[in-house]
Amino acid sequence: MHEILLKTAPQSETQENWALFLDFDGTLVDIVERPDAVFVDPALPKVLAELETRLGGALAVISGRPIAFLDARLGEHRFDIAGLHGLEHRIGGHLFLCDPDDHPRLREMVDRLQTVFRPKPGILIEDKGCSVAIHWRLAPIERDFVHATVHAALEALGSDYRVQFGKAVAEILPSAAGKGKVIEKFLQQAPYRGRRPVFIGDDLTDENGFRTVNAMGGFSVRIGAGETVAHERLGSPAELRHSLSVWAEGGSFPFQGGN
Ligand SMILES: [Mg+2]
Repeated sequence: MHEILLKTAPQSETQENWALFLDFDGTLVDIVERPDAVFVDPALPKVLAELETRLGGALAVISGRPIAFLDARLGEHRFDIAGLHGLEHRIGGHLFLCDPDDHPRLREMVDRLQTVFRPKPGILIEDKGCSVAIHWRLAPIERDFVHATVHAALEALGSDYRVQFGKAVAEILPSAAGKGKVIEKFLQQAPYRGRRPVFIGDDLTDENGFRTVNAMGGFSVRIGAGETVAHERLGSPAELRHSLSVWAEGGSFPFQGGN
């Protein structure tokens, strides 16, 4: 019965037939100098919850942050969500976490990186358990040193791990992780299955997700500057939040090329 309903659901002619995937930092909220000091517009959780209803539940936040960090900033509602670039996700209230104990070589490397970067006060190490992000936003002069150290770390770790560069950040994560892959995983399940994906992001890490939704006949939006394969560009997170709130209140799909 459920299957039949899904198969006969209206296709992309209707604006409600989107599955919406949203990055967090730089997309829904502004990038800040210290990654733990992010400010969430108080109206945002409600707008996202309304949009989720409008989209039949097909809305998920897709971030490099841990799910616990995102939950703590998105109010009481538990959104579908992917954290750590897809290493962990929650769909329909079912949580699939990554276990740091499965990554002993990475754990050892995190200890070594802490030691290497300790004398550099502007470099922040964000230990996410199954991945580690090294931020140099407060010490731009250290960029080359971070790059060289990260490449040496990767050589030691081998092909099970890769580096993901973002805005003044380098993250070492399992090679299997990626926003495109987790978006595909969501799209195999209700209520996402059969819907047309739209992914909105702001960074190099999101280009992988843009390519995935583009290849599936979906739509992609990049926030801010930078070379991109996305279909459309918006200037800032504030501009996106405005578009999403208009959409949530009953407006049509807020991006030009998507219909
Ligand atoms: Mg981002």
